[in-house]
Amino acid sequence: MPITQKSLSIFDFEGLFPNEDSCVSHLFNSRFGQNYACPKCDKEGPWYLNKYKRFACSRCGCQISGRSGTVFSYSNHPLRTWFRAMLVFTHTRTGISNAFIARHFGFSHETSWRLANKIRSHMAWHCGTPIFGGAGEHVEIDETLIRGIRRGGKGSCRAIIFGISDRKRVSTMIVPKRNRATLEPIIRARIRPGTIINSDGWRAYDHLSEIGFEHIKCNHKIGQWVSEEGAHTRHLDTYWTTLKRSIRGIHLHVSMDHLEKYIKECEFRHTFRKKPADMFWDLISKHPPPLPFSGKRYRKG
Ligand SMILES: [Zn+2]
Repeated sequence: MPITQKSLSIFDFEGLFPNEDSCVSHLFNSRFGQNYACPKCDKEGPWYLNKYKRFACSRCGCQISGRSGTVFSYSNHPLRTWFRAMLVFTHTRTGISNAFIARHFGFSHETSWRLANKIRSHMAWHCGTPIFGGAGEHVEIDETLIRGIRRGGKGSCRAIIFGISDRKRVSTMIVPKRNRATLEPIIRARIRPGTIINSDGWRAYDHLSEIGFEHIKCNHKIGQWVSEEGAHTRHLDTYWTTLKRSIRGIHLHVSMDHLEKYIKECEFRHTFRKKPADMFWDLISKHPPPLPFSGKRYRKG
């Protein structure tokens, strides 16, 4: 498939994926490829698309569905609908509401909610858990509060989000507390020793220089946004604004159970902000590795 740095338009999409077969073929070829060794007869391809929208080995007839083990498995929606929904997701800057998906595709609210949340989970998988920094590299850390998060009929609460950024990409997570005991193990696990860590003056970060990092603080309380050494947390501060705009402006009410998906959706969009075309192609082409072959036919997809 041609990959350009320009975001794919709906007309480009219609040209590249005119029917369901083209989508099924793309999924199979991006996950397995025509040279995939058949798990039953051990011979390499070729594979042909049969009437059940599965690929079958041309020698022994063993069938493989490209959907198995992906976000598309156990879904009755055509693959083309999934691809179109993913395209719509990649065309916005601050996120997309479930109500918009319902209107756009003519789905019920429940269906659009399920579909959108599956896509958000898939985006979360793409975000992964990157390790940041290295000797002499600058990494920003910061935490923020998001208020008004629902707690399943028990009123609202605030969520604490901790973020790490190397100014190219961001990784965020929900943390129960923002004290030293909570944040330091995360910092140790996600940032390489010797990294120059930029943070604000929050007291939980006071001991970072004792555990193998070079630590530079900006004291925001006295209006210092750039330290004398030139360190700052401007990248994460800007990111928090985008995240909160997405949650308050688009989703309005988010429950604690699903907050992580919305946070990861924003993170995914931020990671690919300079490569908008890759956003769509990665979503439809990169999936978890195929499951071991069970010897039985795949039930769905
Ligand atoms: Zn075979």
